[in-house]
Amino acid sequence: MNRYRHLRRLRIAISLIFALALAWISVDAAIGLTRIGAWVVHTQIVPAVLAGSAIWLVVWVLATITFGRIYCSSVCPMGTCMDAVGRMRQACLPKDRRRYRYLPPANALRFPIPAIVCACLFVGFTSVVECTDPAYVYRNIVLAIFKPLAITSGSLAAAAICGAAITLSSWKCGRILCNTVCPVGGLLGLLSRNPVYRIDIDTDKCIHCGKCEDVCKASCIDLTVCTVDNSRCVRCFDCSAICPNDAIALHKGRYRLSTPMMQPTMQCGKAK
Ligand code: SF4
Ligand code: SF4
Ligand code: SF4
Repeated sequence: MNRYRHLRRLRIAISLIFALALAWISVDAAIGLTRIGAWVVHTQIVPAVLAGSAIWLVVWVLATITFGRIYCSSVCPMGTCMDAVGRMRQACLPKDRRRYRYLPPANALRFPIPAIVCACLFVGFTSVVECTDPAYVYRNIVLAIFKPLAITSGSLAAAAICGAAITLSSWKCGRILCNTVCPVGGLLGLLSRNPVYRIDIDTDKCIHCGKCEDVCKASCIDLTVCTVDNSRCVRCFDCSAICPNDAIALHKGRYRLSTPMMQPTMQCGKAK
């Protein structure tokens, strides 16, 4: 069996554990004050920074530079919610309408937003962080569902708007919010432009079946040129798990053709 199927299952299990644990901590704040509870909360980048705990920030910076955005496929609860909506979409829509397609990067949005949020943090305007950071948004949505009386009417309205936006956008376009408005995603995207280990397509093995692009919820696989935009890839391993020829995988550096002279004339488009 393709080894990425195991890796994909492992990352889904981890993401569910963190999403459930963070939901439990949101509803019962006392759990968050225990040692394990505080550890779980501090795996989230922005809450860790606001609590002055730099260790997880360092861990995630190093992990992202080395392996890409594994944060977005493992511990971020918002990412897990978007994937859950994506799974429902897969289950409800007919096969020909389930496919994701490559989209060009929305750089005009995804890089300025983290800069604005960082500037707000710097001047002490933390409420903007609470409205945009995925961990805080997730907490508000969980509280709005399970403990609506525990939050203000403003937070309740914000949670309803965010919940609706996340559900609709992930139904339509997968992880589009992760690569447009999420400030954490923007920062991690900057760090993962050229990771040590990148998702890449081995053009010697690729048979241009198009399955990887069909399942890429980050819309970052461009089969017309056989490239993966690693700054947008959320390391879900859906593409590697479905590839029939092990052609798309995590690889140290870029793959090189075994016959480089073929490169300029090679047809790399998706098979029709
Ligand atoms: S981009 Fe943002 S919302 Fe998406 S998974 Fe990463 S941290 Fe979470
Ligand atoms: S799924 Fe594999 S073989 Fe098919 S187009 Fe993608 S990389 Fe190529
Ligand atoms: S390129 Fe592959 S691992 Fe990256 S987001 Fe797309 S499907 Fe997931």
